This record gives sequence, structure tokens and C-alpha cells, in this order.
Amino acid sequence: MTLLCSLNAREIVSGLRKGLFSPQELFHSLRERTASLDGEIGAFLSRNKELAPLAEGPLKGVPVAMKDNILAHGMPLTCASKILENYVAPYDATVVARLKQNGGWVPGKTNMDEFAMGSSTENSALGVTRNPWDLSRVPGGSSGGSAAAVASFQTPLALGSDTGGSVRQPATFCGLYGFKPTYGRISRYGLVAFASSLDQIGLFGRNPEDISLLFENIAGYDPLDSTSLREPLRPDRDETPKNLPALAYLALPDEGVDPEIREAYPRFLKVFQEMGYPLEEVRVSHWEYALYVYYVIASSEASSNLARFDGIRYGFRSPAPSVDALYDETRTKGFGPEVRRRILLGTFSLGAGQYDEYYGKAFQVRNLIAAELRDLFSKYPFLLLPSTPDTAFTLGSKSHDPVKMYYSDFFTIPLSLAGYPALSLPFCLSGQGLPIGFQIAAPYLNDERMLRLASRYEGIVGGEETLKKRFNLGDEAFTAPPESVHNKDNQSEEVFP
Ligand code: GLN
Repeated sequence: MTLLCSLNAREIVSGLRKGLFSPQELFHSLRERTASLDGEIGAFLSRNKELAPLAEGPLKGVPVAMKDNILAHGMPLTCASKILENYVAPYDATVVARLKQNGGWVPGKTNMDEFAMGSSTENSALGVTRNPWDLSRVPGGSSGGSAAAVASFQTPLALGSDTGGSVRQPATFCGLYGFKPTYGRISRYGLVAFASSLDQIGLFGRNPEDISLLFENIAGYDPLDSTSLREPLRPDRDETPKNLPALAYLALPDEGVDPEIREAYPRFLKVFQEMGYPLEEVRVSHWEYALYVYYVIASSEASSNLARFDGIRYGFRSPAPSVDALYDETRTKGFGPEVRRRILLGTFSLGAGQYDEYYGKAFQVRNLIAAELRDLFSKYPFLLLPSTPDTAFTLGSKSHDPVKMYYSDFFTIPLSLAGYPALSLPFCLSGQGLPIGFQIAAPYLNDERMLRLASRYEGIVGGEETLKKRFNLGDEAFTAPPESVHNKDNQSEEVFP
């Protein structure tokens, strides 16, 4: 059987260079994998039916699925919303352009919570995505489709967006690595804005080296994004084994953390101790306020960013007798309940009578959190902490309680508010066989150093092997050359340039 789908990105690059298979064979193998699995999982909203000629470059042949809020020229761009249901992207996001220039390609667009608002992908107006580990559970969100696609070996890599945790949380729920870079390292040009001061494009992979390979080739200054950082990549500053600095780890809150995650945490920390790092417990006194601050700031920015979806310029338009009624009906029918809730909350917080009390106050607390973290990162090169307070929950179990859902990002949001790079890492499985993962965060611009630490961690923990075992894709699978190329047509697929 052809199991090219089990290859990771580096194996694809080297396999193609050695002539072990062709890009077309890989393309068909992945398409077949999607045809056989994705009816149940629902990771993709649209798929590419043909492989365009590939450029030469370090990513030659590497497929990278895109969350459906990232523009890829000629492909649908829905943000999983009715308001953009039939919209087609008129240009490439910078990340897509750089991917293609370096030889990579986009296999398809993945499902998400509508406009990236949510933690389970259940807020998608266009379909359900299920966790490949257990189909009765959510994949996390909002980049749930990207996580499910990588975990089920439909693509080795995917991009998502992380505003408050939307890459790190679904990565953990699906047993993957999920990386949110330093704010400004990856261009946001061509990412549909949710909360611009927080949004970052993030990367999903089954190992840290694949993530590094993609990151190196899509990151860097972009004049099209005014928040893009001009700083050159930091030179290597790895510690020598003889002189390892102490790492910080976050003290757990007294409640609200799943007992199995609480129990696994010291074992996770021990991996770093065994690498030789001394560990020191730290507390961040304003951490617990971050969630509230985030929902005021992110909703305020969203209420402004989403004003452009008015029925005139983009997508869906509801016919109405007057212009006011047209705006009103288009937005009422076009946006789902969570998006409307955030727009209302944001508009309220920014209102003349409320600004000082809500948006202004939230900004002050954001600064306090940032100052505390700055102090922490002036003393420690890394912070270790949980990634999520619980493991993947069952579909429908939190969708009627938005506040419970918001708590999913308790451990990810503070780092987003301050713009620090952070990475979630798979660690072990729960009693029910669900992935449990943790997080590392680092000072600004220490992205590469953090990824190198993660590579050493993967060498010990073996997250990629665990995934392969779970999905019955053993070692013999990916060394075998393909036997045949299948050309099965799938109705739901389309040809994009
Ligand atoms: N779950 C958070 C929210 O609903 C974070 C979303 C995100 O990072 N895009 O806003």
C-alpha cells in the first residue's frame, strides 16, 4: 500500500531529491487519504484537485494546509462564515506566496471557528470537525481543521492563526506541536484580521524540525505588514551542556486543571531536569486576569475589524429596502451567534461612556501582565507551563456555555497579550487515550532557540512515533516506494490555479 502520507516534511524533501517518488505520487496519496478519512473527520473545507508546477527551493514538494482565514489565490476564503461562503481569494497571503516560492504547495483550506472565535471549531457555519483520536470529541479551535488534518496524516504541516491560543490549544488536543512565533516574526498580510494586536500565524507539525523548516522559509520582514519586525534572526545562543541556566515553570492554580494534567505536569518537568536544567517555580500574579482582559481587547478589535463585512464590499448580501436595513440584515444573517456576541461586546467596551472603564482598563492590565512577564524573561530563558486546562472534550459539551469555553485559553492568552513566542508539545496520553500536552514560552525573538530545545525534547518523548502508532502508520510504511498512482475523482474537490 502506498503510505506516502506518513512522511514528514523533511522526509518528503529528501525522498523527492532522491527520486523515491514524484510530487504527483505524493499528491495522489494524500488525496486518497483525505477521500478515505475526511468524510468522518471534516478537517478540510475545500481541496485542491490538481498539483500546479512546483518551484525549486528548500520546501520543494511540501504540502502545507491553510486555515480558511489565510488567502490563497483562486481558492475559497470563507473564515467558516456564511458571510464569506462564496468568496474567492484574489491574492496570496505573504505566507502562501513564500511557501510557493520555496517549492511548497497548498493541498486545501481547513475548517475553523467562524472568524477564529472559539476553542472547539464548533462555531464553524460550514461543517463539523472531529478529533482524529476520538471522533466523539472536538479537535480544539479555532484552528481545529488544521490540527485534525496534520494529526490524521492528511498533510505533514498546516498553518493556523493564534490570537489567544488557537494554534497551541488544538495542537495539544490532537497530539501535535503547535507554534506561535514572536508577534511580528511572520507577516499577517493576507490573514483575515480578528484582533490585530494579538493575531499571529502559527504552525502545526508532527515534530519540531518540520516546524523549523517551514518557519525559516515563511518568516521575516514584510513591508506589506506594518507590524512586521525588522530584527534579523538572532544568532544561535544555545547554552552549553556544562552551564545550563535555570528554567522557570509556572505554579499551577489551585483549581480548574484536569487531575490527569496536574499529575502529568511534574513528569513533563522531569524531562527537562534530566536534560540537566535546574528548575525554579514562578508565579505571575496577574495571570488570572488575562482571560478577562483578552475578551475585552480582542472583542473591541474584532468589532472594528469586522465592520468591513457589510454586504456591500464582500460576500453575502441580504436584499433589503434601505441601506441601513441591508447592513442590518446582512450582518444579522451572515454572522453566527458567537461572532455577533463579540461584536456587541466590543462595540460596548469601546463606547464613549464605557471606554475608560472597559477597554482602557483592560489595556492597563495588559501592560501589567506584560511587565511581569518581561521581568520573568529577563531572568529565565524559558518558561514551562501547561497548554490547556483539560483534554479534548466531547462535541456539544461546552457549546452552550461560552464562559466555560473561554477558559480553554487560560494558559495561552497571557503570552499572546505580551507577544511572546510559545510552543505546545505533546507529552503523553490520558487514561482515555487522549493527548496531553504542555507548553514552552521564550523571550522575544528566541523562537529558533525554543524550537531547538523542542527538538531535543522530541528526541526523548517521541510524539511523532506515538501518532504513527495510533494511526497504524509504522516505520515500514514510509520507506516503501509507492506501488501505484490512483486517480479517483472526488466530487467535493475543485481545481484551483
Ligand atoms: N479561543 C480564543 C477565542 O475564542 C482564541 C481564539 C484564537 O486564538 N483565534 O477568542
